Amino acid sequence: QYLNTRPHAALLASPGLGHLIPILELAKRLVSSHGFQATVFVVTTDSSLSKSPIFKELLPVPDQLNLVLLPPVDISNLITPSTLILTQLAIMMREALPSFRSQILAMKIPPTALIVDLFGTEAMSIAEDFNMLKYVFITSTAWFLALTMHVPTVDDGVIEDDHVKNRRPLLIPGCMSLPFEDTIEPLLLRNDPIYVEYLRMGLNIPTADGILVNTWQGLESSTLLALKDTKKLGKANQVPVYPVGPLVRAAKPGARSEVLCWLDEQPSESVIYVSFGSGGTLSAKQTIELAWGLESSKQRFVWVIRPPTVDNDAAGALFQTGRGCNDFLSFLPDGFLTRTSNMGLVVPQWAPQTGILSHPSIGGFLSHCGWNSTLESLASGVPMIAWPLYAEQKMNAAMLTDDHIGVAIRSKASPTEDLVTREEIETMVRKIIEDKGDSRRIRAKSLQSSAEKALRKGGSSYNSLSQVANDCEIRLRYLNSRIQG
Ligand code: UDP
Repeated sequence: QYLNTRPHAALLASPGLGHLIPILELAKRLVSSHGFQATVFVVTTDSSLSKSPIFKELLPVPDQLNLVLLPPVDISNLITPSTLILTQLAIMMREALPSFRSQILAMKIPPTALIVDLFGTEAMSIAEDFNMLKYVFITSTAWFLALTMHVPTVDDGVIEDDHVKNRRPLLIPGCMSLPFEDTIEPLLLRNDPIYVEYLRMGLNIPTADGILVNTWQGLESSTLLALKDTKKLGKANQVPVYPVGPLVRAAKPGARSEVLCWLDEQPSESVIYVSFGSGGTLSAKQTIELAWGLESSKQRFVWVIRPPTVDNDAAGALFQTGRGCNDFLSFLPDGFLTRTSNMGLVVPQWAPQTGILSHPSIGGFLSHCGWNSTLESLASGVPMIAWPLYAEQKMNAAMLTDDHIGVAIRSKASPTEDLVTREEIETMVRKIIEDKGDSRRIRAKSLQSSAEKALRKGGSSYNSLSQVANDCEIRLRYLNSRIQG
């Protein structure tokens, strides 16, 4: 008889690098620190993913970690031109279920546990069929988790009338309320399929055996406390919530790209890094304004640039595979590159972000506030300029600014509706880079050490993952005893 000698975690990643990267980090952590073997199943839209340079950057993975690309899903018959990206993601995950089930079925012994992300919660029924433990991994904040589990319990009228029509903050018991200005798309589009999908995710999450969140005690202690309290967040407390973060990619050792060599030449904490995640884009007008803002700030910069889009959307983020970009220069103001050649570096499409953020020359990060980018910034002790674009990024930005975590400065304009002016960009960049005693920098550095402590053996995030590992060991022994029968 075959037996598993160590717990085996199957992890299912939804399309998009922002989803795959943290799932891979979790798998690596389970393997390297908690004695697991792991298989990461990746739902793809494109069979060329494995050949893309960006994907290759995520390799190699350690022994005991197996990476399986599921056959690309074709949802063209299931969507219309108006289907939102988030809805498309949910549909893709649903369509990938049969091939995922076949993969599990084909294994000699099923894995001990299944870990899915927010878009994969429907796969938990497959785990039940195979007696596996089932976990949801939230690759965002505990605050977003609290919102997602709270929304299905809220009276329709509260969202529709109070929050959306009257623009009042949405109260989330025990947590920071959600300002209307920072709300998320599903709540604004209650007649769109995304609302139904979002409600379903919120209802599915508490059916897991545990919820892992890419955050840590020192960052979101009060929200994590609220998630434990039945009186506050209802059902949530019946499911253990494990803060296991910040799980971020380490900079590749020995990698010396052009940008890192350039950074080596710059003074300590003198450079602002500008990037909008794996696929975020700005309008042409906003790109020009950003260029002028950077130039007039007279601060050093590294800017990961993409061709502008008509509107800011998440499509790029999902389908970005590192295609070449030859045309980005034409969108910049005339002479920009020449005038700034001593001060800045423009990198088309993709840069080695974790290597950049952990470089001593970086003094600030102008970011779209995707949660991976945010955690990478905090793990390197780098203060931020928050420039949220889509998904839950406005919530992240709200949490990062002065009244709350206090590591970021944020434009008063809404980047998706109004133009952030060159003057404001200049002021924000100067503030973050020039003011070395700024409270945001001090706070970012103290969070960096709190993050390190949480991840160390015996730290809060390490211990959270140990509890998950213990439960998996117990399940493993049970499954093995059944096989031995
Ligand atoms: N990233 C990178 N180089 C880039 C842009 C992004 O390495 O030029 C990585 C970044 O380090 C992060 C991920 O891609 O790990 C982006 O995830 P995030 O949650 O910040 O944003 P998303 O792409 O999901 O919007």
